[in-house]
Amino acid sequence: MSNTDLIIEERSRDIGDFLVGRLIPFRKKRMVGPFIFIDHMGPEKLGPEKYMDVDQHPHIGLATLTYLLEGEIMHEDSIGTAQRIRPGSVNLMVAGKGVTHTERTPDDLRGGHEYTMHGYQIWIALPKNLENMEPEFYHISKDELPSWEEDGAAFTLVAGEGFGRQSPVPSYSDLFMVSVRAEEDFSLDVAGNLKGEIGICIVEGGVDACGQQVEAGNMLVSKLEGQCALKVRKGSHLLLFGGEPFEEERHIYWNFVSSQKETIEKAKENWREKRFPKVEGDETYVPLPK
Ligand code: MN
Repeated sequence: MSNTDLIIEERSRDIGDFLVGRLIPFRKKRMVGPFIFIDHMGPEKLGPEKYMDVDQHPHIGLATLTYLLEGEIMHEDSIGTAQRIRPGSVNLMVAGKGVTHTERTPDDLRGGHEYTMHGYQIWIALPKNLENMEPEFYHISKDELPSWEEDGAAFTLVAGEGFGRQSPVPSYSDLFMVSVRAEEDFSLDVAGNLKGEIGICIVEGGVDACGQQVEAGNMLVSKLEGQCALKVRKGSHLLLFGGEPFEEERHIYWNFVSSQKETIEKAKENWREKRFPKVEGDETYVPLPK
């Protein structure tokens, strides 16, 4: 359940106009637009013995976007935020120059019953000129996100810009994240509706991409503009994400992202030496991995 040890390098395969794999980064494609890492949490039963407790750990150079399908998380951070998140809403923590946070099962859900935890935490790299910004935090509730129905599918614009709409979730470069639930079999055509590179997470169901079936648990990354249309099976749930790629490469180590290697080294040292800001009233500490 931690978002700190899940960087999986795996072989992606080529099908038609797409690369297919389970999570980014893929070996052949490390980022999709500004999106650098996707952590799929669960679905997993929690309680009564085991709850979610991600202790104090730091981030730099990115924004974490948390989007839950089931369950709840209490987020606390070093800028004084304490924010519970429920399914369909968004927590956006902009790490900038450095932030520390914890993610835990809310106290009132620790009463001994079971609940299912299922969601995504997505890391979005900041543009180079904002990598060192002061940290920020935003909570945007489900009913503030643009939602609409079209061609037998229900759409929600979780973040960024797309389909002629704008999400109230702050973004720092051109990007999009869209939830699509297929109520009927339908053909998804993103041309003209979304800009830049695109990744497609198949949360539930499956799609036919260029004549090949791809099932839930996989992710598709488009290699080019004007790719073949996706035939989405009734009952499927997809998350589309992507946007304009950055010019410079990003380095990633543990929870740190930067265009500069030295900035990562400095952050490692600062965390080791306990020079990061702290979550008030929390004495936990996740050590830097060896
Ligand atoms: Mn984190």
